[in-house]
Amino acid sequence: MVIDRVRLYPYSIGRLSPFRIATMTSYSVDGVFVAIDGGDLTGWGEALPFHSINGETRETCVEALRFLGQFLVGRDFMAVGSLVAELKGLLPTMTTAVGAIDVALHDLVGQKLGVPIYQLFGGTNRELPTDLTIGIVEPDVAGVRAGEIVAEGFGRIKVKLGDGVENDVARVSAVREGAPEALIRVDANQAYDRETALVVLNEIAEFGVEFCEQPVRRKDWAGLKWLHEHAGVAVMADESCFDAEDAFGLISGGCCSLVNIKLCKSSGLIGAREIAAVVRSGHGRCMVGGMAETRLGVTASAHLGCSDSAIEYFDLDAHTGHTEDVIEGGLEIVGGTVRIGDEPGLGARPKAEFLAGLSMIEVKK
Ligand SMILES: [Mg+2]
Repeated sequence: MVIDRVRLYPYSIGRLSPFRIATMTSYSVDGVFVAIDGGDLTGWGEALPFHSINGETRETCVEALRFLGQFLVGRDFMAVGSLVAELKGLLPTMTTAVGAIDVALHDLVGQKLGVPIYQLFGGTNRELPTDLTIGIVEPDVAGVRAGEIVAEGFGRIKVKLGDGVENDVARVSAVREGAPEALIRVDANQAYDRETALVVLNEIAEFGVEFCEQPVRRKDWAGLKWLHEHAGVAVMADESCFDAEDAFGLISGGCCSLVNIKLCKSSGLIGAREIAAVVRSGHGRCMVGGMAETRLGVTASAHLGCSDSAIEYFDLDAHTGHTEDVIEGGLEIVGGTVRIGDEPGLGARPKAEFLAGLSMIEVKK
């Protein structure tokens, strides 16, 4: 149960089309697969940084993983809790990098014990109804896409905001027209000040919107609280909540009752479950989401979704805009529902032929 070495595989995958949100436009998916070898087992994780949100890039993740990997070699992977705590202490702001290692360690522990990750947490293998996301596009394009999403079997659509009041309202209106029965949720990715957000939220309320993620800047907790009290649409903290301390402050401070958990913010599964516990204790509810991970990273998020009843909303479509599927095993989406298998550990790994085309960085003691 000793970790022999850590391998890093920086990768780049294309997007079917550019993905625009309020803070940036993404043209490719640039991440790092992390393999932790212990005996005849290999645990897999994925770091997929979104620099405008986490302040991390693929390159800073590689350096962080190289640094953290040295502390893992020679250690007992079964001590996943203390290992992750140690790594968080070493690089507290590199949450995407630490999160990748946390998932790889849980994969190893699950494989060693012969159980899927969600069972390590006492969870059940349930079906998770996910949304599909529409980025910032012209309203007519969004309306057509909404119809396509429903035709693909999805009952939930997430719409990105952050293109000005008029365009945002027109986009949500078009999506409602294109998908009259769908549940609609929106995400402003910090685009607005509180007063403008109030105008947008009150105008889109008539289209029936479940909630709005992160209408205001990350640190504007007072603005979030003001909208929680005054807006016609419920607000959800995303960029404002990285860890359990954030969740405690937001929930106990009356800033929101909804929190979006992402493994790349929470430094992995342990931190994610701490957030869920805090939110549940404050009578709130969680969503599990992601950035632009491959099916490997999204499978880890699905295990989290199966682990905790406080997680009621699922935004597990990160991989759907990629030009290729480089993962073997893992989740599948059927009729808008995410399903994971019952393989021990994560149950997903990069395809050997994809890894063969990448440069591997080996981390030894
Ligand atoms: Mg969000």
